Amino acid sequence: PDPTRDAPPPTDAVRVRGAREHNLRDVSLDLPRDRLVVFTGVSGSGKSSLAFGTLYAEAQRRYLESVSPYARRLFQQMPVPDVDSIDGLPPAVALQQQRGGSTSRSSVGSITTLSNLLRMLYSRAGTYPPDLALLEAECFSPNTPMGACPRCHGLGRIHDVTERTLVPDDSLSIRDRAVAAWPTAWQGQNLRDILITLGIDVDCPWRDLPRDTRDWILFTDETPTVPVYPGLDRDAVRRAIARNIEPSYNGTFTGARRYVTQTFAKSQSAAMRKRAESFMVATDCPSCHGQRLNPDALRVTFAGLNIAQLAALPLARIADLLVPASVATGIGATDIAARRIAADLIGRIGVLLDLGLGYLQLDRGVQTLSPGEYQRLRLGTQIRSSLFGVAYVLDEPSSGLHPADTQALLAALDGLRGAGNSLFVVEHNLDVVRRADWIVDVGPDAGERGGEILYSGPPDGLRDVARSRTGPYLFAPPAPIARTPREPAGWLLLADVTWNNLAGLEVAFPLGAFTTVTGISGSGKSSLVGQALVGIVARALGQALPAETPDGAQDGPAPAPREPQGRVVNGLGAGGLAGVRRLVVIDQKPIGRTPRSNLATYTGLFDTVRKLFADTDLARSRRYDAGRFSFNLPKGRCPTCEGEGSVMVELLFLPSVYAPCPTCHGARYRPEVLEVTYRGHSIADILGLNVDGAYALFADHPALEVSLETLRRGGLGYLRLGQPATELSGGEAQRIKLATELQKQRRGHTLYVLDEPTTGLHPSDVDRLMAHLDSLVAAGHTVIVAEHDMRVAAAGDWIIDLGPGAGDAGGRIVAAGRPTDIAQAPDSRTAPFLRRVTG
Ligand code: ADP
Ligand code: ADP
Ligand code: ZN
Ligand code: ZN
Repeated sequence: PDPTRDAPPPTDAVRVRGAREHNLRDVSLDLPRDRLVVFTGVSGSGKSSLAFGTLYAEAQRRYLESVSPYARRLFQQMPVPDVDSIDGLPPAVALQQQRGGSTSRSSVGSITTLSNLLRMLYSRAGTYPPDLALLEAECFSPNTPMGACPRCHGLGRIHDVTERTLVPDDSLSIRDRAVAAWPTAWQGQNLRDILITLGIDVDCPWRDLPRDTRDWILFTDETPTVPVYPGLDRDAVRRAIARNIEPSYNGTFTGARRYVTQTFAKSQSAAMRKRAESFMVATDCPSCHGQRLNPDALRVTFAGLNIAQLAALPLARIADLLVPASVATGIGATDIAARRIAADLIGRIGVLLDLGLGYLQLDRGVQTLSPGEYQRLRLGTQIRSSLFGVAYVLDEPSSGLHPADTQALLAALDGLRGAGNSLFVVEHNLDVVRRADWIVDVGPDAGERGGEILYSGPPDGLRDVARSRTGPYLFAPPAPIARTPREPAGWLLLADVTWNNLAGLEVAFPLGAFTTVTGISGSGKSSLVGQALVGIVARALGQALPAETPDGAQDGPAPAPREPQGRVVNGLGAGGLAGVRRLVVIDQKPIGRTPRSNLATYTGLFDTVRKLFADTDLARSRRYDAGRFSFNLPKGRCPTCEGEGSVMVELLFLPSVYAPCPTCHGARYRPEVLEVTYRGHSIADILGLNVDGAYALFADHPALEVSLETLRRGGLGYLRLGQPATELSGGEAQRIKLATELQKQRRGHTLYVLDEPTTGLHPSDVDRLMAHLDSLVAAGHTVIVAEHDMRVAAAGDWIIDLGPGAGDAGGRIVAAGRPTDIAQAPDSRTAPFLRRVTG
């Protein structure tokens, strides 16, 4: 109870005047500082445009201007938020969810800086063998020359060739290309002719050559240069040399390993590198056994473990192991250092445990984290950095959180606020919205039908705002589950599922029904639904898991995510698979990784549009084909930015920024291409239209009408056709995939799998999504989702609750049954929250 909480905005307020970024309608509002301010509204209403596009963008601009004279010169190019004025704005830190997916190679340990502290701990307070002098902290990092294992350079794995990889078929002779790894064509013949000069029998099956000859050909580093007589056999060459006959040329030999490793390391051609890689196998480094560090560092221990062993444990276990050192009473320099560093580590890890992240390991790559996990990790790191007077701008921090974990998130936000910071949070989760000191409700709808501030004030006042889409959900009493769950048409049985924290799990999913898999974060929902189920079913259906998509080349929803390299889900489909004809995975992965893919290209509607342009009179008279209207092909795109519309500007010491292309000013095309118009719109204008606008323009065009209408019904009417894949949130990417999928006509029973489909969705958007998914089930298909939203779980036919805890403490089925049964399940951590929504 904080008496100042409900007070009107004090003089100490952030005053925004005339904000017009994106769809904002020239709005003005006052926001209290040092409070939890939550921005609500349907997707596309303008929440992010206000919180990130205006408040954060302006704070960042002012900050950059103050620190970097170099950056200042670039501001002519950098977009400035469209706002008349903002007063009282503190410096801001944005914890935004990654858009477009992360390509970062960093790990949990590096972004939290916990790895640095651990290195310090081992350096100063580790147990050293008697013959080893104290090591610097850097010696414990595989990323420094001193720390890295000299054999594998800190990679932990080595790529190497073997006789089997270089010579896949040892019944062939060298002439018949036994050494498959060698180059083909002339270069291959050259190597063969060199071997002939060297007196080697190139017509003998490889396996019958002497061992030392084979080893020399494959593994030698010698590169002898010898005379070459193409076309002659061994004896003829010997005679030619004896008679001093001039050779055609002198050729230099390269052993197969040398050729492969050099090509892999140095070739300019990606295809050549890929070919070389195919002759190598990756194995654990024989020196460090995958621990990546030099032998000395690995001899230093703490609590009986070396640093690599400790770093491989979940955070919660590390904290446990540190406790004795943090409370030990020794007075030696080592004891004191250990106490101080261990206490600091425990404090930092404790914050992450509170945020439900104790199951993560330090060496977990950032790319394997969900956006919600990533953001909470960064949030947890900020909390310990004890800044104050800062505005934190957050994007749906509750995403990925079970309601049981949301309390801890709120406590963490309270902590930041209590330390004197302002919190500006875009959020849909009603538990978080209810805890706000101040709500800004944006709306009423998306895009042009949104962008107004419907309400700005303490939560209770929203009750009386008739136009708000948020109010009814916020103040609605729980409603009993009205419908009777469907009877399953059969069961899909999986047995012996072993993946991440799932160990020998057996699970039954009802077919022809809507199933929600629930459980606290880290309990194994994604592992079960997004990975194991998908992997096993895809395998059983013989449906290929697609390879990593090349940039921008993806053209439809992926059938299933790729299993991480070298790992295969252990488990089998034990029943019911005969009933399933197809598997469709609708995940939150980006629809493309570069600004070159966008909504229009992904859904395929841009192909149709380009044909319409090629069909116009002007295009015909100039002989422009559809390819001319592609920003991916040189003949039509702007040569400066190569069709990206923007160019990257590198800033010293600061993250690089994109600025509009100086030649085409963002239009992406050559000027002459833009002269061609369709109903008054150039091709660039079309990409600038949102779905609603395009729908109005193309309503009489059957193919376009169908796909645009499906996007609109998916709540995406506000998205621009050319909105780059990298700007789309995970939730938007997922809804685009869903809409693309829905517009296809499908025969046969399809299994639809979705991982947290409600991320980024306002409760009213969730209702729409549910109606969509329900229509799929009504048509006889099966839908399985991993989800935290209890309204979704309650509305389905079946719930599988995983747990009881996270990581090793989870991965089991706590309860499975109809929603009304799960709401009463005694040991389920989901049950109480399910009861709250169902009354
Ligand atoms: P919300 O955060 O409420 O989901 P946004 O602020 O992201 O909504 O979007 C509000 C409107 O602004 C939408 O019509 C959206 O298409 C548009 N918009 C969002 N980002 C951009 C952008 N980078 N350029 C132009 N319009 C945008
Ligand atoms: P949930 O979806 O319920 O939050 P996850 O399936 O993501 O849970 O995680 C279950 C367990 O599997 C956790 O201990 C997590 O750390 C581990 N895990 C998940 N993904 C990976 C991965 N790519 N590599 C290693 N461990 C993972
Ligand atoms: Zn090594
Ligand atoms: Zn350009």
